[in-house]
Amino acid sequence: MSLNEALAERLHEMSRLLELLGENQFKAIAHSRAARVIESLPGPVESMDKPALVALDGIGDKIADKILEFCASSAKGAPRIPEHEKMLKEVPPGLLEILDIPGLGPKTVRAMWQELKIVDTASLKKAIDNGSLLKLPRMGEKAIEKIKSGLALGEEATRRIALGLALPMAERIADELRAQKGVERVEVAGSLRRGKDTIADIDLLVMVADVAGVAPKLQSAPKAGAKTSAKLPASKTKQEEPHPVIEAFCSLPDVRQVISKGPTRASVRAVINLHSGRWKGGGPDEHPKEPTMQVDVRVIPERSFGAALMYFTGSKDHNVALRQRALAQKQTLNEYGLFPEDDEETPPQDRGIKPVASKTEAEIYKVLGLPYIPPEVREHAGDIAEFEKAGKVPKLIELSDIKSDLHAHTTDSDGRMSMRELVECALQRGFHTIAVTDHSKSSAIANGLSPERLRAQIKIVQNMNKVLKSEGIDIRVLAGSEVDILADGSLDYEDDLLADLDIVVASPHAGLSQDPATATKRMLKAISHPLVHIIGHPTGRLINRRHGLEPAMEELIAAAKQHSTALEINAHWMRLDLRDIHVRAATKAGALIAIDCDDHEASDFDNLRFGIATARRGMLTPDLCVNAWSREKLLKWLKSKGR
Ligand SMILES: [Zn+2]
Ligand SMILES: [Zn+2]
Repeated sequence: MSLNEALAERLHEMSRLLELLGENQFKAIAHSRAARVIESLPGPVESMDKPALVALDGIGDKIADKILEFCASSAKGAPRIPEHEKMLKEVPPGLLEILDIPGLGPKTVRAMWQELKIVDTASLKKAIDNGSLLKLPRMGEKAIEKIKSGLALGEEATRRIALGLALPMAERIADELRAQKGVERVEVAGSLRRGKDTIADIDLLVMVADVAGVAPKLQSAPKAGAKTSAKLPASKTKQEEPHPVIEAFCSLPDVRQVISKGPTRASVRAVINLHSGRWKGGGPDEHPKEPTMQVDVRVIPERSFGAALMYFTGSKDHNVALRQRALAQKQTLNEYGLFPEDDEETPPQDRGIKPVASKTEAEIYKVLGLPYIPPEVREHAGDIAEFEKAGKVPKLIELSDIKSDLHAHTTDSDGRMSMRELVECALQRGFHTIAVTDHSKSSAIANGLSPERLRAQIKIVQNMNKVLKSEGIDIRVLAGSEVDILADGSLDYEDDLLADLDIVVASPHAGLSQDPATATKRMLKAISHPLVHIIGHPTGRLINRRHGLEPAMEELIAAAKQHSTALEINAHWMRLDLRDIHVRAATKAGALIAIDCDDHEASDFDNLRFGIATARRGMLTPDLCVNAWSREKLLKWLKSKGR
């Protein structure tokens, strides 16, 4: 774990401890906000001084001091924040575990502790069994059932699932919902829509034609074009029955448990279909039996769909910033719309007040005086001001911008495709260029090529280009290698051989638990090597599996920029390496980025969209992405390196 991650974890825990101790809520919020800021720092926090820390949006004076305490003590071998330790002494350790149970908030957990002396899951179970938990205010049978199922789900519920597993699952369920009667539109929301590399749960929003009596807080809306009265009162009894779409959702074949079900929403746990490809994992395959994850579905009427989509897409920081912005403009923004503000306690939608904007996200942003902000960059509150200043969001890269794949394997090493099959796949995607980059000799398990075999392969590639040309097929095959970056930063082939290649992708495969300083030196050596074009999966991390290297990424980025070496976003959903925050730092510095699928089999080309999501989160624009360049520009860059 890097110091950034350790610190973020510590700050998150402080926020939770503050809540359990019943302290000022704003103080707790400030700590969790600071934790998120630290999580997304591109460089090591220990290199920052106080002015640099307080300059960050979301870090105040007091928290900056705590961060400095943490870093200073870390340099002595044991990172600590005295206030954190003091609080830990006051709160029984088991309480934090209870707070992890889905559906339990800090207020309830604090009441359990103060009034019933519940201090861990064991005493919580006891209080459920002997009925004493019922004595707590607002604690009924239903709430207790929820706690019980939360306890049973335990660890599984807190687990984050790889994007590459969650997205296909969400799409499958969305398709099933689209097939239901009256459903007009289904959208994925939450962190999945924002393209995060791992997902806690899936949020789906369903737009239905007829919402009469569906949402307790919403008046019935007339079906478009239908002659119904907008003032039709919603009947009470009807409100309590789940909408047919909710019923249909809860009885889908993949649903294993219904956690909760109401008139317009339901939460279930549904089966994750594991991949059958090279990597089956992403976390859940380590599960003993059928892995599941939580899926939440909400039924929303058309007229507030945009507001709901915005609200349930998040991020939390983004939503808070937008709400504050609305307030400053004397308006109220919530999941039902953007309303003209008044000071009543009852929410505007419950008093028949019409929203100024609610149907689409675009119109809400517009009324707020902002350009449309794509979901992938709704992460940091500070970005909003930048978008506003620029009057637009940079044109983020899209799937259709990608015109080449520069990292792919054939049956010569550990791929499953022949060179010709690889070319066919690239043609199907409309690429103008495909690179053959099999493994180098040290990757023995992957059947890495000896120098002799690589020389022979170069000839085969040259011949392939001739054949393709004679067939009138317009694609260029590049002779390349994914050459190992050895532990000391040297490369696995002699320079003479590398110089004969069209493209050199250099990647770390072994020695991935090196200390950060050694890893930095190793990677800098490869980046500045005059024959290297691309650094493949620069940290070697595997999501939910392996941490990988933790080099000083800012130094790597600066060197990459200086030497015109591209850093790869490996698009495989198990890798997504570079990760989003590093892409963001690279983009800001103006370094080149490659987005490659590291194809081993035909279906690997489908992973490109995950790489694009990571790239967009990093605010990558097409001009900095070598795969988005024309063939001429790409070849010019490739030739700029070398002899
Ligand atoms: Zn590799
Ligand atoms: Zn590879």
